[in-house]
Amino acid sequence: MKFWVLTLFPEMVENAVKTSITGRAMEKGIIEFEAVNIRDYTIERHGKVDDYPYGGGAGMLMQAQPIYDAYMSIVEKIGYEPRTVYLTPAAKVFTQKKAKEFALEENIVLLCGHYEGVDERVLEKIVTDYVSIGDYVLTGGELAAMVVIDAASRMVPGVLTNAASGQDESFSGNLLEYPQYTRPEEWMGEKVPAILLSGHHANVEKWRREKAIERTMERRPELLKVEDNEDN
Ligand code: SAM
Repeated sequence: MKFWVLTLFPEMVENAVKTSITGRAMEKGIIEFEAVNIRDYTIERHGKVDDYPYGGGAGMLMQAQPIYDAYMSIVEKIGYEPRTVYLTPAAKVFTQKKAKEFALEENIVLLCGHYEGVDERVLEKIVTDYVSIGDYVLTGGELAAMVVIDAASRMVPGVLTNAASGQDESFSGNLLEYPQYTRPEEWMGEKVPAILLSGHHANVEKWRREKAIERTMERRPELLKVEDNEDN
């Protein structure tokens, strides 16, 4: 699977992806990553990529031409128009379900906006999915792209050394993950729940499920309502 990132700040995303689990997956050739610098494709002088919004308003907008040409450079390399995600606060929030869906693509393009956003016309031409990472506004789409790359990579077979860890965790069903403990058995007077030391697999599973339900009811009760939960 290859992630292509259209950005004005390639080094920001490159550094993050090269680190830790995604970095190891890249070394093993399980995932690939390429940042395309939108500024390299502008036809305007001095590397200009933004301009004032028609109709007035605060800030600058990224122009259509450099983004489109940068995108087309990817299309030419891979020979088809890939799934293309625009990271924007004006969208549905990214979910584990989307991460799994993206992980099935051979190539995926992530477009990072900056300033006040992007000329709508290029979005209409190239974007297949609009994704927000949360109900707040970031200065650019790069952090959001890193979030999507990280979450989707974990769902690509072979990226996680223990495949089960991607299945049995928060959002893998409609539940948050149960509490977990590691050594020592007692820390600051607090003991690990005895059931986890019992060796009784079925009882451990039952306890974990109960705790997962309890935690979900307490922290994210809306996940338990099936009709609200189509995206998980
Ligand atoms: N004016 C835009 C609006 O109100 O929707 C916000 C622009 S924001 C300052 C600049 C860029 O950051 C956006 O084009 C988008 O790519 C990215 N961005 C900001 N918040 C985001 C979020 N919650 N999720 C994904 N991308 C986001």
